[in-house]
Amino acid sequence: MKHSHVFHLTRLRLAGLYAGTMGVILAVCGVVFYEAMTHSHFSELNHRIESVAGTLHDGLEASLQEPGRLEPVVQQFLPTLCVAQTDCANQLPTAHYLGVFQQEGYYIRFLDLSGRVLASAGQVPTALPQAVKTEPWQTLETSDGNRYRQISLVLKTTQQQPWGYMQVGRSLQDLDEHLVWVRVLLLIGLPIAMLVVVAASWWIAGQAMNPVSHSYRQMQQFTADAAHELRTPLAAIQATLESTLTPESTDTDAWDTLRTVERQTGRLSKLVQDLLLLSRMDLQALPVPRQLCTLNHVVSDLVEEFAALAIAADIALIADLPKDRSITVLGNEQQLYRLVANLMINAIQYTPAGGKVIIRLRHDDHHALIQVQDTGIGISLKDQSRIFDRFYRVSSDRSRQTGGAGLGLSIAQAIAQAHQGNIRVESQLETGSTFTVQLPLKQGD
Ligand code: ADP
Repeated sequence: MKHSHVFHLTRLRLAGLYAGTMGVILAVCGVVFYEAMTHSHFSELNHRIESVAGTLHDGLEASLQEPGRLEPVVQQFLPTLCVAQTDCANQLPTAHYLGVFQQEGYYIRFLDLSGRVLASAGQVPTALPQAVKTEPWQTLETSDGNRYRQISLVLKTTQQQPWGYMQVGRSLQDLDEHLVWVRVLLLIGLPIAMLVVVAASWWIAGQAMNPVSHSYRQMQQFTADAAHELRTPLAAIQATLESTLTPESTDTDAWDTLRTVERQTGRLSKLVQDLLLLSRMDLQALPVPRQLCTLNHVVSDLVEEFAALAIAADIALIADLPKDRSITVLGNEQQLYRLVANLMINAIQYTPAGGKVIIRLRHDDHHALIQVQDTGIGISLKDQSRIFDRFYRVSSDRSRQTGGAGLGLSIAQAIAQAHQGNIRVESQLETGSTFTVQLPLKQGD
């Protein structure tokens, strides 16, 4: 399967999972919001009906004398009370309670103990069921589809005998209309939100896949480069062996071949060691031992070691170390030697005869700084961002003669990072380069 197809499928799956999860969360939030809103509206309505009913109940009960008989005082309390079987068409809304009933769709009914309606006021629905139920709260539905919320309270006479029932209720029409609107909004809004979520998921999945796809391409490039680098010495060995394994070849030819084979296998084994070191560092399988390393010793040892190479290349190798103080870091001495050596080899290799290479050791408050400065060929700005990539060589032909496989700086950078440090490069073509390694100082220095 082509890798682009795999990435496309993975992106689809990621986007699907994300959109699905977000869809479920959105739907649950929508339902919870709707339920919470309905509940809060109902609670508020119940509270208002209860407070109206409570006030009436307390005001009326003190004046009731005989069960089922409406005293005139009730009529005074509720001037527009319409007594059953009378014509109430001309009554005017004057009392405060009636005002509430008319404006907000409230109604009140008085029933005797058998459930017969004695009188009513407010916006009493025509087809309201009359049965008195035992539970105080009821939600009733009339035949025309309107719903009503109602509370039934038992009224008692002054002698504490049951008088009958008082029912206070209110139409749920405005609330139902409001809830229908909310439902419509949710039903339209949720699919639109889902479309946005799907588009966002696709984009986010793309962003998430980017680094994976990038490192996959890097891995492919790395494998191809490694194979290429391994093939070159192997091809050289094979060609040399083939040219020697002829009946005409002499002992001298055989010795020459063996020397070539030795040189090429040395190159191969160095390459394999470098690759192994890098992959172990990638896997963090090479823990950095926390031993004290004095950088003054590392640098002066290496300057001594490369002195002969510098003389042979006609380059002045200068060490600039602090005389009065040792700069110490915690880390792996062998790896730090390797780091500085790689920078020094490059500086010598990429500096023409007559040039200078200066190694400085400095420190600031928290870091040790190792600087390798040369007056060499320099590195263009474009290449500066790539020279730490594995197998990257600025000019393959030139570097093949002088340098290695393009792993020196990658290894140096991996070592610096394993020591919680970093490497910077400043360079100008035809003028020279300065590589600066920054490593955390041992605490207390
Ligand atoms: P190599 O082993 O080929 O030298 P490196 O990883 O050490 O690989 O370096 C990568 C490339 O960076 C080299 O091929 C070289 O072109 C460039 N480079 C490194 N150091 C210097 C330097 N001091 N001056 C100029 N070019 C350099």
